[in-house]
Amino acid sequence: MPVYNSTSKKAEEFINDEQIRATLAYAEEHRDDLELMERILEKGRQYQGLSYKEAATLLECEDPGIIQKIFDLGKEIKEHFYGNRIVMFAPLYLSNYCVNGCTYCPYHMKNKHIPRKKLSQEEIRAEVIALQDMGHKRLAIEAGEHPAENPIEYILESIGTIYSIKHRNGAIRRVNVNIAATTVENYRRLRDAGIGTYILFQETYNKEAYEQLHPTGPKSDYAWHTEAMDRAMEAGIDDVGCGVLYGLNNYKYDFVGMLMHAHHLEKTYGCGPHTISVPRVRPADDIDPDEFDNGVPDDIFKRIVAVLRIAVPYTGMIMSTRESAKTRRECLEIGITQISGGSRTSVGGYVEELDEEGKFDSEETAQFDVEDRRTLAEVVDWLIDLGYVPSFCTACYREGRTGDRFMSLLKAGQIANICQPNALMTLKEFLMDYASEETRAKGEALIRQRLEMIPSEKVREICRRHLDEIEAGNRDFRF
Ligand code: SF4
Ligand code: SF4
Repeated sequence: MPVYNSTSKKAEEFINDEQIRATLAYAEEHRDDLELMERILEKGRQYQGLSYKEAATLLECEDPGIIQKIFDLGKEIKEHFYGNRIVMFAPLYLSNYCVNGCTYCPYHMKNKHIPRKKLSQEEIRAEVIALQDMGHKRLAIEAGEHPAENPIEYILESIGTIYSIKHRNGAIRRVNVNIAATTVENYRRLRDAGIGTYILFQETYNKEAYEQLHPTGPKSDYAWHTEAMDRAMEAGIDDVGCGVLYGLNNYKYDFVGMLMHAHHLEKTYGCGPHTISVPRVRPADDIDPDEFDNGVPDDIFKRIVAVLRIAVPYTGMIMSTRESAKTRRECLEIGITQISGGSRTSVGGYVEELDEEGKFDSEETAQFDVEDRRTLAEVVDWLIDLGYVPSFCTACYREGRTGDRFMSLLKAGQIANICQPNALMTLKEFLMDYASEETRAKGEALIRQRLEMIPSEKVREICRRHLDEIEAGNRDFRF
């Protein structure tokens, strides 16, 4: 039987089934120990994070008073590290060809209902222009795994195309990549192509469940998939994004598995995941979420978000348009730092107009149903009304602040002098180039107010100057 070893390079040793089960048993045994819960919360208040065992214990507690304290602390930590900034991004689906058999995804190879589509470089150009015209600066590209249709060369060429397009004042300044687990050599090529974060969801950390959910294709190899982040880091990609698909398997198991993964990366490479995503299973063609009997109700889901915020305070947390506006609002308060807006989860969806029912032609190639269907402009307006600063910042990666360089700035509390001005300047760009007059007026007032809250006087002055320069038509300032 594999033995737990957090710095091993073997999947079943750093994600260890026996250790996860022992952790869950401990958490259950102590679920009513309110003194222990208070001690864990007190540790969380040091802003240094929690172990997976402490986090699992907190998540297990059903006491209403403790649950409220979890939400309060999630909010406090979020405000401390991230202020009221929310980073914006959009997914861009390149291809839905896939050789895998994931039972929860409509792109699985055996699904004959959906048309298969792969964007040409010309079509990518059109999608990117549409995204730039919405105001996006940061994309996450998505593609199924298909060695013949979507080889690494196609992905690399597509990244090059995306970065090369400058339409009006638009530019995609950071391309994050969500493609199948691959070789160290291919990760090197992705790194050299200037990607931001490499994102790969584990789906579930439970090997047995994983193998059932992935019966065929290269992704069926649990170790190959689970060790992907190690290969990415070995190749010099130091910003990686993790996540599980909640609803596939017991959420408690996957919650511990993911924190164990984060712990492994931190211990082995000196840097945990850059981001954690929290997707839940959604309806899609050929997929009925009711077939998966591990659905996570909203109240538990919110606790997962808040405990993660406490456990890994330095990790960005992402929520997509899979979730409703209501859930997104509630989770933004207690932990989420990055959301998508105006998303189309189909191949080629951004160039299409919605029909009267709010649908578009390529919707049948969508990977999952979108719950929050508002445009980016509407989401930005909504965030401003809620008092958040929507940020289109991509500065860190472009300034070489990745991996442990980024983490040490964050840990030193310096990021407030960097993120805040960058958020204000990129919001100003959005207001100038893409917003309605009404949003612009509200956004300008927010910028004026938040400018005064930048801690360093020097940074504040430079930021003020750059805001004037943006007003005069210049773009792309950053700290
Ligand atoms: Fe393919 Fe990814 Fe869908 Fe699995 S989840 S079928 S790998 S696109
Ligand atoms: Fe993110 Fe860096 Fe921009 Fe802050 S300055 S929002 S950490 S890219």
